[in-house]
This record gives sequence, structure tokens and C-alpha cells, in this order.
Amino acid sequence: MTTPYDDTNIFAKIIRGEIPCHKVFEDADVLAFMDIMPRSPGHLLVIPKAPARNLLDIAPEQLAVLIRQTQRIAKAAVSALGADGLTLQQFSEAAGGQEVFHIHFHVLPRWNDVRMTPHPAPMGDKTVQAEQAAKIRAALG
Ligand code: 5GP
Repeated sequence: MTTPYDDTNIFAKIIRGEIPCHKVFEDADVLAFMDIMPRSPGHLLVIPKAPARNLLDIAPEQLAVLIRQTQRIAKAAVSALGADGLTLQQFSEAAGGQEVFHIHFHVLPRWNDVRMTPHPAPMGDKTVQAEQAAKIRAALG
């Protein structure tokens, strides 16, 4: 049995508006925002609004909505930032590298021959991240 969802996690607080973020996209089901410690320029996170801890407990229907929006946002990020490709990551449970227990996909735009910053990366520059979020929002239309 997996550990129950705990709604005191930081992403639940972001969904409730208790903590600010650089928002990229929001609808009734999904929220996307810049990662506070980017491991590549434009590193963002896509999360469902409904509670789920990770890939091990999310309902398949909820996952389908999440991955569909993740693809759309990832394509917009690659195009908006002129990236050569992207890395998509999802960690489940501490053993899998998960630190925040509300399911999220990491979208990491990538450039040829540029390595990702190792974890833990330094805090992102807020001005730069706000500009990146605006560019991706514009590409989403
Ligand atoms: P994971 O749980 O997959 O290991 O990663 C959690 C991610 O959330 C990390 O990349 C970390 O930088 C990011 N993160 C942690 N706290 C915050 C926060 O308060 N705001 C934002 N935007 N990202 C966060």
C-alpha cells in the first residue's frame, strides 16, 4: 500500500495560491509553473490539480489529462526558448528521487552539448524565469 496523499505539500499550497509561482499555464485540471531551482533554462513542472502522490497512485484518467497537457506545454517551451530537445522526468517516492509528494512532470528544455545542472541546482533568477514563463505562455497562445 502506498502512503496517503498529504495536502500540506508545497505544490498543494501553490495550487491553493498560498505560495507564489511563475505560472506558465492553468486550467481546471492542470497547473504548470517554473521550477524554483532550474536544472536547465526553462525547467518547468506540470501538475494535476486533483490530489495524487505520484505515478503509483494517480488515476489513469487523471494521468491521461496530465500527459496530454505536458506534451502541449513541452512543445511550446521548446519552440519558445529555441531548444534542441527536451528531457521529461517523473520521480515516484523517495527511493525514486521524489522530494515533493504531489505528482509532477519535469519539463527540461535541452540544447546540444549542454549538460543539465546537477541536483540541487541554485535558485533560479526570478526575472529570467518570469521572462521564460511569458515566452512559453505566448507560444501556448
Ligand atoms: P522531485 O520531487 O521530482 O524530486 O522535485 C521537486 C522539484 O520541485 C525540484 O526540482 C524543486 O526545485 C522544485 N521545488 C521545490 N519547492 C518548490 C517551490 O516552492 N516552488 C517551485 N516553483 N518549485 C519548487
